[in-house]
Amino acid sequence: MQILQNVSLADHSTMRLGGIAAYSCEIASRAELVEALGWASSQQLPYRVIGSGSNIIWADEGFQGLLIINAIKGFELYDEDEQNSYLTVGAGEPWDSVVERSVAAGLSGIEALSLIPGTAGATPIQNVGAYGQDVSQTVATIEAYDTSQQAYVTIPGFDCGFGYRTSRFNTSDRGRFIITSVTFHLVRSNPLPPYYPAVEHYLTDMHKAANPATIREAVISVRSSKLPDPSIIGNNGSFFANPIISTGDYTQLEAGHGQIPHWEVSEGVKLSGAWLIEQAGFKDFHDTATGMATWYSQPLVLVNEHAKSTADLLAFKQQIVNAVAAKFGVQLEQEPELLP
Ligand SMILES: Cc1cc2nc3c(=O)[nH]c(=O)nc-3n(C[C@H](O)[C@H](O)[C@H](O)COP(=O)(O)OP(=O)(O)OC[C@H]3O[C@@H](n4cnc5c(N)ncnc54)[C@H](O)[C@@H]3O)c2cc1C
Repeated sequence: MQILQNVSLADHSTMRLGGIAAYSCEIASRAELVEALGWASSQQLPYRVIGSGSNIIWADEGFQGLLIINAIKGFELYDEDEQNSYLTVGAGEPWDSVVERSVAAGLSGIEALSLIPGTAGATPIQNVGAYGQDVSQTVATIEAYDTSQQAYVTIPGFDCGFGYRTSRFNTSDRGRFIITSVTFHLVRSNPLPPYYPAVEHYLTDMHKAANPATIREAVISVRSSKLPDPSIIGNNGSFFANPIISTGDYTQLEAGHGQIPHWEVSEGVKLSGAWLIEQAGFKDFHDTATGMATWYSQPLVLVNEHAKSTADLLAFKQQIVNAVAAKFGVQLEQEPELLP
């Protein structure tokens, strides 16, 4: 395990902004994780474990600590019977390659999560979801280093406190557990309808029946046409979560503004954040002052056209938050985490 000094944090965020980390190291095993934590402790330094930085923005001030990059690999498939399989993957496996390989094995459960950037170990943190699936539906167990007990533990999926873009790992137990592997319960059968409308349209247009491979194909096609590729332009995917409000608040909002695109969910009413942002005047909006923009086909996505600093990004974000709050009285919440 090699410890590097003065590392650019912009290289560890797909938004490509941020200051300098005093130290960084890549860990490839559970033992190396313990070694890295021991080194940080011996130097009395804070540490932060990350995957590939697709849900992180870094402060311009940088990080006076050890950045631990999780690169623990592994892909093990265990067929319990003809129908049920358990897939255990190392936390540092690139997520889309995990999805690709599970689909190639004929398994269903995570195919709609195709093309989401990042590592497998980060998916439970915000309960990654898209096109009608989220990982809470399939996470069987998580293996993690519990920094409180200083021991490896196994956490069952039902004990992860999963909700919409949340889990205990980004709320009550934020920073406590370092995930080293995740086991998914997948099934050897075709996903059942209803499918997400954009996926359904693709299948109908292409005259294809739904199976894990065609759902993956549909999701890749839809995502590629709608979302910017972070290897081409800096972004963190959706910068805001779709806001969830109470049914009573929605009735009031509708009385003042007419129908707003929304979905009923167990917590209340989920509003289309994209629609709110467009209506607040930020559709395909290019801000010359900050070098930031909203993506032309999905305004929830903020892109870094030529921003110089995270301060630029945050100033642009605040303009949007203020405009939506002023017009609708709805507070947009930032999805990527501002670190440290
Ligand atoms: C173009 C684009 C599209 C996206 N689309 C979606 C989408 O459809 N749905 C969705 O849910 N998300 C989406 N995202 C967000 C992002 O892909 C996910 O949040 C992803 O899981 C982040 O993985 P990562 O490895 O990059 O994590 P990082 O950004 O490196 O880390 C995210 C958080 O997890 C913590 N963390 C990372 N690894 C570990 C670990 N092993 N143990 C403990 N903590 C850890 C970090 O400390 C940090 O708090 C998108 C992002 C982009 C850029």
